This record gives sequence, structure tokens and C-alpha cells, in this order.
Amino acid sequence: MSSVIPGQRRFVCMLCMYVFDEALGDPDSGIAPGTLWEDVPDDWYCPKCGAAKGYFEPEARFTTPG
Ligand SMILES: [Zn+2]
Repeated sequence: MSSVIPGQRRFVCMLCMYVFDEALGDPDSGIAPGTLWEDVPDDWYCPKCGAAKGYFEPEARFTTPG
């Protein structure tokens, strides 16, 4: 079973390590809290360094459960 719940996932910018949290969204860029990563528009960019969505990776990849 996966412990990753849609809507509570976090994605990390590989360029600057900014963390996009689905639960928080990015209100400054018009992304409402609770927005799923898949629903974040492709023209959204990292608010910190300007990287495209493609530079983000799921945070779960870098953490170990428990
Ligand atoms: Zn970034």
C-alpha cells in the first residue's frame, strides 16, 4: 500500500529545493490550497527559481517511511 495521499503530497524543485505542498498550494501564483499536482497548470513555474514543473520530483522519493 502506498502512504502517499493525493492532495497531501509534496514536490521538490531539483534546482533550488523549493517544496510545493499540495495542501498549501501556491496562492501567490494562483494555485489554491489543495490543488493536485496534476492540476497545476503546465505554465506554472517554481516561484523561487522559475523552473518548470518538469524539474520537480515527488518528495517521497527522498524520504524513508516511518
Ligand atoms: Zn526552484
